[in-house]
Amino acid sequence: MSYKAFEKKDLGFTTRQLHAGYDPAEHNGSKAVPIYQTAAFELGDYERCLRLFRYEEEGDSYVRFSNPTNRVLDRRLTSLEGGSASITFASGMAAISGTFLNLCQAGDNIVSVRTLYGGSTELLQSVLKPYGIEARFIEDENDVESYRQYIDDHTKAIYIEALGNPGMNVLDVDAITELAHSYGIPVVIDNTFATPYLFRPFEHGVDIACYSATKYLSGHGTVIAGMVSEAGTFDWLGGRFPQFEAFYEEYKDLIDDKTLRTQMFTQRLRIVYLMQLGGHMSPQTAFYVLQGMETLSLRMERHVYNAQKLAEFLDQHPAVTEVRYPGLPDSPYYELGRKYFPKGPGAIISIRIRGGKEAALRVLENVEIFDYMTNVGDAKSLIVHPASSTHFGHTPEENAAAGVFEDTLRISVGIEDIDDLIADIGQALDRS
Ligand SMILES: *Cc1c(COP(=O)(O)O)cnc(C)c1O
Repeated sequence: MSYKAFEKKDLGFTTRQLHAGYDPAEHNGSKAVPIYQTAAFELGDYERCLRLFRYEEEGDSYVRFSNPTNRVLDRRLTSLEGGSASITFASGMAAISGTFLNLCQAGDNIVSVRTLYGGSTELLQSVLKPYGIEARFIEDENDVESYRQYIDDHTKAIYIEALGNPGMNVLDVDAITELAHSYGIPVVIDNTFATPYLFRPFEHGVDIACYSATKYLSGHGTVIAGMVSEAGTFDWLGGRFPQFEAFYEEYKDLIDDKTLRTQMFTQRLRIVYLMQLGGHMSPQTAFYVLQGMETLSLRMERHVYNAQKLAEFLDQHPAVTEVRYPGLPDSPYYELGRKYFPKGPGAIISIRIRGGKEAALRVLENVEIFDYMTNVGDAKSLIVHPASSTHFGHTPEENAAAGVFEDTLRISVGIEDIDDLIADIGQALDRS
């Protein structure tokens, strides 16, 4: 029954988040997904060993690149995304860096926006640069036509985020994917802030979705984890990606053609990057992510409900000069938010405090329920001063472009009782 749930795409999201990708009959009837705490697996016989190492047979040999616990998680996310395959990494940054390396070789470039997660901006503009991979940051990300001037024959992806950090800006994803595909370029999205429950990347033409599963997917602030999911519809053999053509040549006689073509991105991530660079999620962590994902839709509903109420409260509070949340009608992203996030535009809010940095720091000192932390996507509410933490070390111009000022606070709204959250932030603002 349960395994069938993986294949049945007509089952609801909440049913699939509990059952998809797992058959207890394959695991001694265990109803919870077992944690395979082992470094390696018995290979059986010589012929099977060869089949495994040629990737002809799905199975496990060494846990640097696969494990049955992680495979359930791969399948579960694939089912929730409506894609073709997924793969687990030790962190969101491992997932994102693996993705960039899979896309680019020296001389290539990635076209991206200024409103990315700080670590991703840093990776693109500082870490990859000496390896010959260039990041081209778009001046005005809302002007999709202007993206054309950044694209050339060596552009290997347009990289965006579902909800910008921390300004919660919403991009016109349909227009971006249409433009990218007209050049034969894939679109990669970091869907961490939205999750597949609030935003459906592949239904809007996105080709690859990356996640920090540290956040809402696991949902309780207990693990560092990352994932990549692929839609399965992009043609990697269209001429722009010699590395995928070489990969196809190498595996076309071993892996079934449809599987190889539709799972090309994740297969290569596993066979080249997990295999050679490492960075796989541990099976313990996969278990925690699976456990968290069982309640994903329920948590997200409560997260967005609370975020909307809190944003409305903050919007009328005299100590707050600006609230950035796409669910507010005066947000410049309200219409796009309604189009792309019909269930609610996430649960991160950024605010600016009257009285500048000192006043903002007093809010941090005086909150009691909100915890002062750089994390987001925990069931518990969190608050942070981005300029001195997540966006520390960037120039004021770079930060302004991302919506980060000295008086900005970013709130990750948890699932507590909304009256308590409003009372807590209210008293801290009153004392700012
Ligand atoms: C946290 C985060 C990351 C990095 O993920 P880690 O799991 O911390 O490595 C990437 N993108 C976004 C949007 C994030 O919030």
